[in-house]
Amino acid sequence: MRIDRIELYHVAMPLIYPWRTAYGEDAAIHAVLCRIVSGSVDAWGESAPFAAPCYSPECAVGVFSIARDWLAPALLHQELPTSTELQNRLAIYKGNPFAKAMFDNAWWSLKSKISGEPLHRLLGATRDQIPVGADFGVMDNTDDLLAAIDSAVADKFPRVKLKFRPGWDLEMLRAVRQRFPDQTFHIDCNSGYRLKDLPLFQEVDEFRLAMIEQPLQHDDVIDHAELQRQIATPVCLDESATNLRTVQQALQLGSCRYVNVKPGRVGGLTNAVAIHDACQAAGIPCWVGGMLESATGAAHCVALGMLPNFTYPADIFPSSRFYHEDLSSPPLELMTLPDGTPGVAAPATLPEPVTERLKQRTLEQVVLT
Ligand code: MG
Repeated sequence: MRIDRIELYHVAMPLIYPWRTAYGEDAAIHAVLCRIVSGSVDAWGESAPFAAPCYSPECAVGVFSIARDWLAPALLHQELPTSTELQNRLAIYKGNPFAKAMFDNAWWSLKSKISGEPLHRLLGATRDQIPVGADFGVMDNTDDLLAAIDSAVADKFPRVKLKFRPGWDLEMLRAVRQRFPDQTFHIDCNSGYRLKDLPLFQEVDEFRLAMIEQPLQHDDVIDHAELQRQIATPVCLDESATNLRTVQQALQLGSCRYVNVKPGRVGGLTNAVAIHDACQAAGIPCWVGGMLESATGAAHCVALGMLPNFTYPADIFPSSRFYHEDLSSPPLELMTLPDGTPGVAAPATLPEPVTERLKQRTLEQVVLT
């Protein structure tokens, strides 16, 4: 597949409610989308590192400029028969997984369109549906959170994830556990703590959580290994799991008992599949997360989530959860699985940006030919 043209769009997608985590608050999700054209076929990729470099060292303005100045020129007019070839062409540029993911994911979409094979099948999946979990950010008060969990439990979500940060921690967890003694919960700390907070996490053990997601620094696997040795609750790496090598080191060190895989954070679907395979070989289950992408990027997460070692319910949300109107069409919708729990089906067609909406939300764009 030869890449004849690349278009880049830095967009701001306004959220219905601000997204509050341990690292701050976003009123709009900043993402970069690329449209790659090969002959008469085109395909889209999306990367949503957010506006500020607070989730990871990357941010949307940075991804746009790295993609425009370095990555896109390295791919333009090149023959890219495999995604490994694409990754090899980008390998000279260090880091920047979000920027690379946008092109890697677009390559997979292009491959799917040209071959006529559904994306999840191309990735090696044999399932067509997976369960999804519910996920709640920091709220104004605990009563609001309990009401939100009430409706998630009524809707039969198999597990609930809670954001956890100083000031929204043990007291919140105690109230939640008291009200819902049997529901599966886990917390996501978004690297808001340090190893000196070990006593706090030892207290968390009593709440019988499925896991503690990314308690410590965004780039750490060593302190996480120490923490995992001293608590009973499984640790899950998210922010730290940026590439295959780091994940292999984490597996060796015993830094975690779960790995969250986001195609954006690991440099695209190619690397995400490799991480999935390494974890599977090590007996460590994975689950898929997203970055509040539009339906275009979310479809890549959904397709990935169909692989067999993604056994914990995914962080995949319907478009209507976050957006009055998704940038892309068709929007992502949930379905009901045979056991009555909410799930999502493998994308039948890959959602693409609606021209008018893309125009409205674009802050900066460029075309490379
Ligand atoms: Mg997380």
